[in-house]
Amino acid sequence: MKRKIKSVVEILLQDPTNLDELSFPRLVKKVYLYLNRDLNQIINDPSKPESELINEAIIAIGFDLNAYGRGVLIMYFCSHCGGGLGLRVCYGCGSEFKDDGWRSGCNTSLPQKVVAFLQENGHQFGIDPEVARGKEHAIWRKLK
Ligand SMILES: [Zn+2]
Repeated sequence: MKRKIKSVVEILLQDPTNLDELSFPRLVKKVYLYLNRDLNQIINDPSKPESELINEAIIAIGFDLNAYGRGVLIMYFCSHCGGGLGLRVCYGCGSEFKDDGWRSGCNTSLPQKVVAFLQENGHQFGIDPEVARGKEHAIWRKLK
């Protein structure tokens, strides 16, 4: 399996409906995705919405980072709705928060396999992640 891994993504699931004392969304969970494609290649591939491409590229998902020699890429998602987190707003549910200077902005939605993995492990979304996915698809169709 190891040889097929082209990139590892660290997903930081943060809750913009539960801000800390500095108005930053609290970290809920970290999830690691092992992909058989380079994430940068996926981001530049317009053939499908990004979350679909990531979903197809997933070889494994886990809560722990296994040995991996190269840099891990970080993506920020909303634990409440599964939407991508922008600098100050969730693209899914619209919850606002303060920019902590770390997020680069992620205008996609949680890949379905990640949603399933989180739900199998007891995570409950406040809003069905299908809503955020629908929004991502609508934007993708407009850009096409
Ligand atoms: Zn959200």
